[in-house]
Amino acid sequence: MARLRYNSAVEAFRDQEYPMLQDSVYLDHAGTTLCSKSLMDSFAQEMTSVLYGNPHSGSLPSQQSTSKIDEVRIRLLKFFKADPEQYDLVFVANATAGVKLVVEGMRSLPEGFVFAHHQACHTSVVGAREEAHQSVCLDNTGVQSWLDGDNPFKPMTLGDRATLFAYTAQSHMDGRRYPLSWAKKLKNSQTQSSPRILTLLDVASLSATSQLDLSHPDFAADFVVLSLYKIFGFPDLGVLLVRRSAESIFNHRKYFGGGTVDVVVCGDEPWHALKSLSLHERLEDGTLPFHNIVAAGIAISTHQQLFGSMDQISSHTAYLSRELFHGLYSLQHANGNPVCHIYSDMPDDTALFDTGPVISFNIQDSRGLWIGLAEFEKLAILKKMHLRTGGVCSPGGIASALDLQPWEMKRNLSAGIRCGEDSNRFANKPTGIIRASLGAMSTKSDVSQLLAFMKEFFVEDLSTTPSQTNPTVKILGAPSKLRVKTITVYPIKSCSGYVIPPGVRWEVRPEGLAWDREWCLVHRGSGLALSQKRYPQMALLQPLLLFDEDVLRVKYRGSVLRGQPTYVDIPLSNDPSLFDTNFRQTSSRVCGENISAQAYLSEQINDFFTDSLGIPCVLARFPAGGRGAGSRLSKARMQKHQQTESAQSCQHPSFPDVPSPPDSDSEQQSQPGKILLSNESPILMICTPSVESLNQSIIKSGGSAVEEAVFRANIVIETSPGQQSRPAYSEDMWRTVSIGDYIFKLLGACQRCHMVCVDQNTGERRQEPFSTLAKTRRLNGKVYFGTHMRHEPTEQYDELDAPRPTVQVGDVVAVEEEVPVTYRER
Ligand SMILES: *Cc1c(COP(=O)(O)O)cnc(C)c1O
Repeated sequence: MARLRYNSAVEAFRDQEYPMLQDSVYLDHAGTTLCSKSLMDSFAQEMTSVLYGNPHSGSLPSQQSTSKIDEVRIRLLKFFKADPEQYDLVFVANATAGVKLVVEGMRSLPEGFVFAHHQACHTSVVGAREEAHQSVCLDNTGVQSWLDGDNPFKPMTLGDRATLFAYTAQSHMDGRRYPLSWAKKLKNSQTQSSPRILTLLDVASLSATSQLDLSHPDFAADFVVLSLYKIFGFPDLGVLLVRRSAESIFNHRKYFGGGTVDVVVCGDEPWHALKSLSLHERLEDGTLPFHNIVAAGIAISTHQQLFGSMDQISSHTAYLSRELFHGLYSLQHANGNPVCHIYSDMPDDTALFDTGPVISFNIQDSRGLWIGLAEFEKLAILKKMHLRTGGVCSPGGIASALDLQPWEMKRNLSAGIRCGEDSNRFANKPTGIIRASLGAMSTKSDVSQLLAFMKEFFVEDLSTTPSQTNPTVKILGAPSKLRVKTITVYPIKSCSGYVIPPGVRWEVRPEGLAWDREWCLVHRGSGLALSQKRYPQMALLQPLLLFDEDVLRVKYRGSVLRGQPTYVDIPLSNDPSLFDTNFRQTSSRVCGENISAQAYLSEQINDFFTDSLGIPCVLARFPAGGRGAGSRLSKARMQKHQQTESAQSCQHPSFPDVPSPPDSDSEQQSQPGKILLSNESPILMICTPSVESLNQSIIKSGGSAVEEAVFRANIVIETSPGQQSRPAYSEDMWRTVSIGDYIFKLLGACQRCHMVCVDQNTGERRQEPFSTLAKTRRLNGKVYFGTHMRHEPTEQYDELDAPRPTVQVGDVVAVEEEVPVTYRER
């Protein structure tokens, strides 16, 4: 057996060979391996010095390709220790395409086939069942009883049908390995008279970090599929290995294409002669991806130069995965509860090579509640930790690991398409996993950085219990006076804000402040409304409301090409007669919701946005007063921490003990207000003491303060001059406020994502303030900052000539109603 050995040489060449990693941690080798600079350089060298032509002709460049393909085919067979006498190698697009080719052969058999697959199979393998006469999914016990002679298919079903049994050599979900001897035992269990059993072995995960050895006496699979990009990082190419004794199942395959046929007669007497030389010639329809095949040859060489043998990689990755496993396993909250629930097997030194370097886990807080995947993912993205989360294309494996029933999986699917909801956790049960997978170019530092990240965000150190720092404990007494500091509207969703000048009274409508989020940019390809979360450069689009000129002028503050306009004017008037000619109704998705908006047809307008952002998009308008998909409803609601029961269980200092406003949830759900294109509610408000408090925390941990603008609030409230400041986050407890003469109802705290990290001046992404927010303002997996609200109309405004409600900078703000709080000293 191989010995564990860390290959420290990787550290020496990593920065140079994998410059794309820079300051990030890549732990998704089960997704794909990264490709080295050496490989790309050699490939570029080869492609620019040798003339390769389409292999289907007699010219010299064509011959060049043909002989290269033959050479690489043999080298790959050798790489997997496959004897060319016994196996043929067929180039396919990826492992999935290899599976499909086998299925195409099996379903063309006169009697069709039955299909059994192991539960750990990849989705791409499970799909084969749809072509089968009948299918079963087996766990280890099921496979064992089959090997013991108990066929999972009834003789009636079976008839003369061949059986295809598919399993994975190593689970891509948790790294567990399954015996290569299964195929052989199954073969041995067959009698002369029984119909044929063929085995499809998926080695896509195993082959990435282990030596695949088809010469092993136990190796008996008939079909083997894998993807080369998982081994070498490049090219995107797959391989199907076929045992020659199983070739005959392809004899009934019907389709032929250029490349797989010798003669074709069209017209009245259609006839064709298939290529008959070798299996691969019969199966490789169309022009082979010959440039990719050339790259595969180079990949074998550079891989070997960098990493030595696959066995060396195997012992390197096993070493690291043992470190990672023990590190995750030993993480504890201050109360002694474990932080990680690990689904992968504990690697013990004797059985280490029975598990691949893939560790899947979920995180629990100190009370044992699961941390949602969305929450983990937001933080991981922020810290540039690249791991995979979710169902990882392993339906059976996930269901078994998480004990999910079919109805739960269906419910999770239908909930998954909702935006903003933490759909990853129902009834305190996880719906997916976090997967860390190691590869040849992983280092100790990747492992230690992941562990440090886990400690930073998920290990609860109870010394930070609320008792010491809860700032809200002191507030009782005369409330201090507040006023409006700034008012901002965001005419185009996700673009920069327009700051209302002091002295201007601004109208408040039921849907929010006038002109707020009335436009959005829609991706031409996907129809999705663009968001700064994905395209931070949107912060550089600066809208100005120029009422004198009746236009919305949008300037681009980033660099533009010469001759490109730096601004565009959009008419403010939404005279419906304009819509007929200048607009087209378009459906789009905003925050997971289907909406119908009016897309501009003007090339000048659309080109301006497309060219500025470098994203193909059109401008669309979503005017007030729409119906159906032309209207949207507020989704904001009082959060749990603003209600009673969860208060004691707060894990972080800034959430006070707050009893519930009596009617919050029920009432709001019955009458949600309308909104335009804002995410959740008509108006978003923040208070400066909270921003200051957050900035102090950021500075304390070595970061730099952020501007209020990152929170993209409509109304910023500050303490009036000469008044004592209210404590940070007191707005969590407000129920209604008056601003000037008008009453606003608070709808609940605003849930945040890493979009607050976009610097609104430069469009650059940073780590703050989300990193600190996640440590100080995270509750039940969500991070809160700021408060949603809406204007509460009273009857007086229903009269036509009543003045429209307005707000302006400097308006006095009074907290009309606070949640009655009985603070407990803790
Ligand atoms: C990645 C993977 C696949 C699918 O590979 P594709 O390249 O997407 O076709 C199948 N099975 C396993 C075990 C894998 O890890």
